[in-house]
Amino acid sequence: MKMKGYAMLGIGKTGWIEKDVPACGPLDAIVRPLAVSPCTSDVHTVWEGAIGDRKDMILGHEAVGEVVEVGKLVKDIKVGDKVIVPAITPDWGSLEAQGGYSMHSGGMLAGWKFSNFKDGVFAEYFHVNEADANLARLPAGVNVADAVMLSDMVPTGFHGAELAQVTFGDSVCVIGIGPVGLMSVAACALGGAGRVFAVGSRPNCVEAAKFYGATDILNYRDGDIVEQVMDKTNGKGVDKVIVAGGDNDTFIQAIQMLKPGGRIGNVNYLGSGDYVRIPRVEWGCGMGHKTIAGGLMPGGRLRMEKLVSLLEYKRLDTSRLLTHRFKGFEHMEEALMLMKDKPRDLIKPVVVL
Ligand code: NDP
Ligand code: ZN
Repeated sequence: MKMKGYAMLGIGKTGWIEKDVPACGPLDAIVRPLAVSPCTSDVHTVWEGAIGDRKDMILGHEAVGEVVEVGKLVKDIKVGDKVIVPAITPDWGSLEAQGGYSMHSGGMLAGWKFSNFKDGVFAEYFHVNEADANLARLPAGVNVADAVMLSDMVPTGFHGAELAQVTFGDSVCVIGIGPVGLMSVAACALGGAGRVFAVGSRPNCVEAAKFYGATDILNYRDGDIVEQVMDKTNGKGVDKVIVAGGDNDTFIQAIQMLKPGGRIGNVNYLGSGDYVRIPRVEWGCGMGHKTIAGGLMPGGRLRMEKLVSLLEYKRLDTSRLLTHRFKGFEHMEEALMLMKDKPRDLIKPVVVL
């Protein structure tokens, strides 16, 4: 049987293609999407060539869907279940997963399969490996558009706070308040941070950052953000920095604004360039106890079902991210191009099917 999908045709080129509906392995599921969303990472993949060239690879890794087929060894997930599909779908039997780093199962970053080395979710059907471990049930009462933010934006933004080890009373600077950084701001607020600086310039994102719990807004276009943070903290800096935007040189600023003993949690995808520079003196000449941690979001059903409970019990409102809503697959290209062009009123587009 054939299906349609929206694909990367080569670096800088996208379009609709036709492919066979994927086959279901014994532990796997075939899912029909109910809502999907394009990601800034799709933009890095297609237009920056961040993972190298890919020919006719269906894009997308953020979806909520309905299960249409399960393999004969799948015990729990059933045909007809509505599920959240995490962007990262590890091989849970791998040694990396046993070591606690499931996102790197099979090699560094290899838990990221959709729209990386297999077809993604912008298709009439897509394949999910290890359905019982990788799919999370969608609770009744959480709508599919809000829930699709759980595929990537929530777990990635929250992972920034985990990597930085944000704890009660911490002062934190979140650099970048696109949808990922906004979810880092929300994670800081939920996790008990004290003062939360949010760095961005788009008015819509600034308003959303306040909504999610930022106490101070800094605009990087108004001058050096290190100076702005130092001015507001009597020259002391912050306990933690979460990097969810900017470029390779943003690390320089992150280290400069961090107190000794502080941690940087990076979730920004460095799509180009060969090196990240660390400022020697502000890194304490190598002795400042300033830790840099960077990570791909963890997937997994347990984590996803815990995170969706934040929506179910109204502790987190992801609808505030959804600035552009479309109905029908024919709008897929429009939604992706919004992500590429980033009009100033955009936070995140969603396509409901
Ligand atoms: P956006 O492009 O929507 O947001 C980027 C933010 O960074 C904006 O607030 C932007 O400000 C700000 N920014 C841009 N340049 C600078 C600068 N020089 N200094 C400070 N801030 C700056 O991105 P997303 O939120 O969609 O994604 C953020 C990153 O996370 C991307 O690189 C994405 O690929 C990555 N990602 C990583 C994942 C992971 O698992 N680790 C998963 C998913 C995404 P402005 O308001 O001016 O636009
Ligand atoms: Zn993504």
